Amino acid sequence: MLSNKTALITGSTSGIGLGIAHELAKAGCNLVLHGFAPEGGIDSLLAEFNDAYDVKVIYSDADLRDPNAISAMAEMVKAEYAAIDILVNNAGIQFTAPLEDFPLEKWNDIIAVNLSSSFHTMQHYLPAMQSNGWGRIINISSVHGLVASIHKAAYVAAKHGIVGLTRVAALENAAKGVTVNAICPGWVSTALIQSQIDDVAAAKGIPIAQAKEELITAKQPRPEMVEPSHIGEMVLFLCSDAAQGITGASMPIDGGWTAQ
Ligand code: NAD
Repeated sequence: MLSNKTALITGSTSGIGLGIAHELAKAGCNLVLHGFAPEGGIDSLLAEFNDAYDVKVIYSDADLRDPNAISAMAEMVKAEYAAIDILVNNAGIQFTAPLEDFPLEKWNDIIAVNLSSSFHTMQHYLPAMQSNGWGRIINISSVHGLVASIHKAAYVAAKHGIVGLTRVAALENAAKGVTVNAICPGWVSTALIQSQIDDVAAAKGIPIAQAKEELITAKQPRPEMVEPSHIGEMVLFLCSDAAQGITGASMPIDGGWTAQ
């Protein structure tokens, strides 16, 4: 389905981004993998993709806190590919603390990675999508782009910001063949949420498995996490012809969290 397309997925060295990368590669899409190298280095991840799929894969470790690094990544991508057809802004970080204690450095990092980096990447890759008359931008927001939770000031602000940014970009590109949508997951089983599980376990003196269950069911009616591949399949659908009329949407995949 995507054999003549190229996708850049930020934060695709682990978790949801990696799940999305696998689904797109299965569909024949060339890739730019991006993110900090996983433990053990990037080579084994690149080898895994090269062995499993007949697609071209390149890699960037650009630090999304730095707009110059994002520009350098765009230059590198331009040297390898004619254009990015599918941009998935997925990279994200988390930190929890009451607002009055929230460290400024954590606020700045979360806003930079979870919000501003998507503004920068869209500026780099939108013009080619517009001139090609086809493009897909999928921003991975969160249920926290739609509702709030305590102790997540920066994360909730950034994720609400991504929903707004998605809507503006969708409106500006609606007649240009470029759709822009956000996906809003509830709990997904990845490294990002492990410290929250550990905190609950430590605070209550309970086993990790029980802490995980308590964390999930505190807000999410469906008592299970979503798999990264499920998010990947939604991305794939948004890249299909059937989804050409979907733009400016913020889709929850949240086990009913935001239905309440
Ligand atoms: P993860 O920790 O498994 O992956 C994060 C990725 O971002 C990694 O590839 C990492 O290297 C990259 N990254 C982090 N900081 C970076 C930086 N400064 N520069 C470049 N790359 C950087 O996390 P995940 O759970 O897969 O999260 C992916 C996205 O999904 C995030 O935007 C997150 O907010 C969102 N999300 C996650 C959940 C969940 O329950 N896991 C729920 C809703 C939304």
